[in-house]
Amino acid sequence: MAMDENFRDSIGTINEEGKRAWIFPKKPSGRFYEYRKWVSYALLLFLFASPFIKVNGHQFLMFNVLERRFNIFGLPFWPQDFHLFVISMISGVIFVALFTVAFGRIFCGWMCPQTIFMEMVFRRIEYWIDGDRGAQIRLDRQAWNGEKIRKRVLKWSVFFVISFIIANVFLAYLIGSDRLIRYITDGPLQHISTLVSLLIFTAVFYFVFAWFREQVCIIACPYGRMQGVLLDNKSVVVAYDHKRGEGESGRKKFRKNEDREALGHGDCIDCFQCVNVCPTGIDIRNGTQLECVNCTACIDECDAIMEKVNLPKGLIRYASEDNIEKKAKFTFTPRLKGYTAVLTILIGVLVGMLFLRNDLEANILRLPGQLYERKAGNIISNVYTYKLVNKTTKDVADVSFELLSHPGTISLVTHEHFTVLAEELAEGTLFIEINNAALNGDKDKLRIGVYSGDQLIETTTAAFLAPRSYK
Ligand code: SF4
Ligand code: SF4
Repeated sequence: MAMDENFRDSIGTINEEGKRAWIFPKKPSGRFYEYRKWVSYALLLFLFASPFIKVNGHQFLMFNVLERRFNIFGLPFWPQDFHLFVISMISGVIFVALFTVAFGRIFCGWMCPQTIFMEMVFRRIEYWIDGDRGAQIRLDRQAWNGEKIRKRVLKWSVFFVISFIIANVFLAYLIGSDRLIRYITDGPLQHISTLVSLLIFTAVFYFVFAWFREQVCIIACPYGRMQGVLLDNKSVVVAYDHKRGEGESGRKKFRKNEDREALGHGDCIDCFQCVNVCPTGIDIRNGTQLECVNCTACIDECDAIMEKVNLPKGLIRYASEDNIEKKAKFTFTPRLKGYTAVLTILIGVLVGMLFLRNDLEANILRLPGQLYERKAGNIISNVYTYKLVNKTTKDVADVSFELLSHPGTISLVTHEHFTVLAEELAEGTLFIEINNAALNGDKDKLRIGVYSGDQLIETTTAAFLAPRSYK
């Protein structure tokens, strides 16, 4: 097998002995890197601020998996709203899939928190402390002298502090920022289990960003693994224009005053700068590979080289395979149209369900195992449990129930009127009594209104059992 086909057999970060080949990427610079910096500042601000922003008293983003409570863009999702949460998650996945079909892994390079933190936070600190690629390689190989100890201790300490900050923000997403701030002000020793979780998260982030790094994208990330099925020849990805780069006689080193066109040489001068700058250690000239996170560093690097040797920029650029092979323009393919249609329907359903959702949700269910009871005066009685969820940040006071579909009475076991506290659940037992003459069968469907004072705030249904002989 030819040497340049080796990339198909192994990943760029594993050496011939099967060990991890540590990547020392050159510090990127150029047009796209500058744009990415600004995008990363905006996203970091969003990521750090979201758990601390409130909309109508609700945390802007919260993913409380333990209590199954989620806030998305300030809209609270309770366990009772789980279907809405699932639909919004499916919409999100389809959106990312649609986007990937059209634009490849643009999400990985520009928006993924792993890339943002790795390339725009931790890597930049590394360049600041250890220097650029050459200096990093030298430092890695040199013996443990004063300089190496000082730089390593400084770098690892800064990495630890940042990992600790990220772990705190992560916890704010999980348990809510109010609770996190309360725990901090109470003192960490009052909440030992939370402190332990915090330190575990810190250790995980430290491990990921100080050591595991690009392996997350290559080995662990399921999205990266899906690229093979999502991408086609029309997907726009970071690509090497092999037609232009290889020419008729292949890539050749640059020689001054040489007419490369006349000699049939491609525009690639085989300088390896696109490889040196790659954070996943691959050679983009081998074609689209699963390791490529579309970070654009190789575009910037190759453009700088092209400028130096006076050749047109864009040898590596955002392009589809069809664009490179056939000079085809971007088209809205049937697959893209299909994804867009599904996405539009899902978002429509989601928005509809959000608008139809009540602030107070009532569930009234017959007590399991209990049959009806006959009472004097031809009255039939059924016993129920009720659950009221107040999804708002305000208390709902003076709550009572009323039968809307039948004449009859509803009596609560404790008090007749009560308050459902903000973001709380109220539950209890109630009896419904109806004269048998008013019933239509042995299993009537009742419509019950939930009132706050005089105002009807929710309606719900329940089954009412009666003896057959009463029909
Ligand atoms: S940076 Fe450009 S010219 Fe240099 S090896 Fe890569 S593709 Fe070829
Ligand atoms: S090949 Fe280019 S775009 Fe892909 S990860 Fe490497 S540097 Fe980034």
